Amino acid sequence: MPPGQAVVPTRPPQPLDNVGTRYRVLLEEVDEELERCGRPRGSVTIVGVSKKQPAERVRAAIADGLADVAENYLQEARAKFALLPPTLKHFIGHLQTNKAAAVASLFDVVQSVDRVEAARALSKAAQQLEKELRILVQVNVSSGERFGCPPERAQELAEAVLAQRGLRLDGLMAIGPITHDRSKISRSFELAAKTFACIGGSTLSIGMSGDWPLAVRAGSTMIRIGTALFGGRQTT
Ligand SMILES: *Cc1c(COP(=O)(O)O)cnc(C)c1O
Repeated sequence: MPPGQAVVPTRPPQPLDNVGTRYRVLLEEVDEELERCGRPRGSVTIVGVSKKQPAERVRAAIADGLADVAENYLQEARAKFALLPPTLKHFIGHLQTNKAAAVASLFDVVQSVDRVEAARALSKAAQQLEKELRILVQVNVSSGERFGCPPERAQELAEAVLAQRGLRLDGLMAIGPITHDRSKISRSFELAAKTFACIGGSTLSIGMSGDWPLAVRAGSTMIRIGTALFGGRQTT
């Protein structure tokens, strides 16, 4: 700084400045939960759910080490990813078969394959792109949830994914019930874990901002975190 120049006071911290810190704090909290469960530190991947979040918040978390980002909506994802440095991109929204080609080209992982037709459409697109997509089958483990294949049909769906070229079956994704009843949430996660054990793979994607500790106790290897990482979502 040239002599005599006034020191510009640093502006007070803004909410956005805390996002990176929140990622590190969350990472530490997850590791502490893992230790309490007797599981190794670092055995859960945090995926930042960036839907309805401004790109700068996501960039701040990426600068702090966040490597995986998830979006629910194709159009929003396309616009936002263009503003982000490279990350591993997860699609977690409901998959319409007519959007499969676009999803396959934009994303690396599709967590929401809940029926054979979706797997077929992604396979066709992946082959055209000469790309291999990581696939999680989405299983419905809570009565309030609209999407996801019934647990008793998960194995059949997993086999259908395995049979498709261009797709690599990597595990299971499920959404816990929206309730304050923790034992109900745990039961849903245990059902997800049991179903995951039947189909195999390396990724059990369960747990969100409100319920991730219960998911980690049930064996989650991937938690999908929006508000607890980036703050409240834009409502427009
Ligand atoms: C929105 C969303 C999340 C993240 O939700 P938060 O409660 O904000 O952490 C995770 N998974 C799916 C499938 C979602 O749609």
